Amino acid sequence: MSLSHGRPYLAIPGPSVIPDAVLRAMHRAAPNIYEGELAEMTAGLIPDLKRVARTRHQAVIYIGNGHAAWEAALANTVAPGECVLVLTTGRFGHGWAEMAEALGVEVRILDFGKAAAVDMARLEAALAADRARRIKAVLATHVDTSSSVLNDLAAMRMVLEATEHPALLMADCIASLACDRFEMDAWGVDVMVAGSQKGLMLPPGLGFVFFNERAAMARAALRRVSRYWDWTPRADPALYYQYFCGTAPTHHLYGLRAALDMIHAEGMEAVWQRHDRLARAIWAAAEAWGRAGALSLNISDPSQRSRAVTSLSLPSPLGSQLRRWLEEKAGVTLGIGLGMAEPGSAAADGFFRIGHMGHVNAHMVLGMLATVQAAFEALDIPHGAGGLDAAARVISEA
Ligand SMILES: *Cc1c(COP(=O)(O)O)cnc(C)c1O
Repeated sequence: MSLSHGRPYLAIPGPSVIPDAVLRAMHRAAPNIYEGELAEMTAGLIPDLKRVARTRHQAVIYIGNGHAAWEAALANTVAPGECVLVLTTGRFGHGWAEMAEALGVEVRILDFGKAAAVDMARLEAALAADRARRIKAVLATHVDTSSSVLNDLAAMRMVLEATEHPALLMADCIASLACDRFEMDAWGVDVMVAGSQKGLMLPPGLGFVFFNERAAMARAALRRVSRYWDWTPRADPALYYQYFCGTAPTHHLYGLRAALDMIHAEGMEAVWQRHDRLARAIWAAAEAWGRAGALSLNISDPSQRSRAVTSLSLPSPLGSQLRRWLEEKAGVTLGIGLGMAEPGSAAADGFFRIGHMGHVNAHMVLGMLATVQAAFEALDIPHGAGGLDAAARVISEA
């Protein structure tokens, strides 16, 4: 007998839960891509995307995943042989660095490990040491989805200013957008990349790049940018057909319209507050369970934790056993540990992740936590008492 029949819950850090309203918006016959409803709707998507990113600058859409947005951001700002400084706090920072390397860009990495945020003193020293001003862009991951660390982008801009360094600040907000507070213009971020399948609640398939005038100047100074990645025609509202360098991602656009309507009906502040409250409920449960047990939160300092994803560990192989039990017996799928230990190594079966991004509410989180506790009981995993009480207390805050 399994207790998993019923509505499944994919609680992995992307793809995230797709709202019924988004699925319904996508369930339609193929539209005319040249004129009419779709073309008119697309123009309205851009301002609403910018409101999510808190920017008055440019937003462009690529048919592609987060990796595509990574490459697009680099292709428009740095040429082969130029240098970027990548601040890594987990697997995804290294992924963006590898992307840059493959484009022939010189990559310098400042590695802050897998359990803490970027240390601004080290960033300052690295920028100050770059007297020749070789570093053209600083690449930072807002939330590294492997470690669940949250980085302080506004502080990075302050360090760039303090060192009078002209490098662009480029941020990967693929995991964090519409989950953790993000203010592109106020924080001085020049380029931001995002994807459709995390906080934006869509299927994978769209990559987004937001860029300001400083970044547009960097693009203008490049000798060439490949036609597909070039963001210039994609940002020109007079050239609708060039927005996508070919056929529009028709159904994703209808889904995006529905998702943006949901986000703005709730309000950005409320979206961030909801993610904050739900994340704190998960942390409260995990802290209580960990007090007398084997569970530990990967990021010990709450101010460095993301509200989109939480990375946890148990002694190996209990993490994998927990995930398997939850999926088979309870209809809840948690995320695998990613990049935290050598694949196939003993430790790899200890890490796991909870995605709490996008279309998630109190009963989903409390239900997920209660089934985690049931898995602890079923698998004889030692754990402290009061985890669910602690989570319920956070949810019940006025
Ligand atoms: C998911 C994710 C990516 C990769 O996105 P894909 O759509 O899988 O290419 C990159 N960076 C971060 C922070 C992510 O969460």
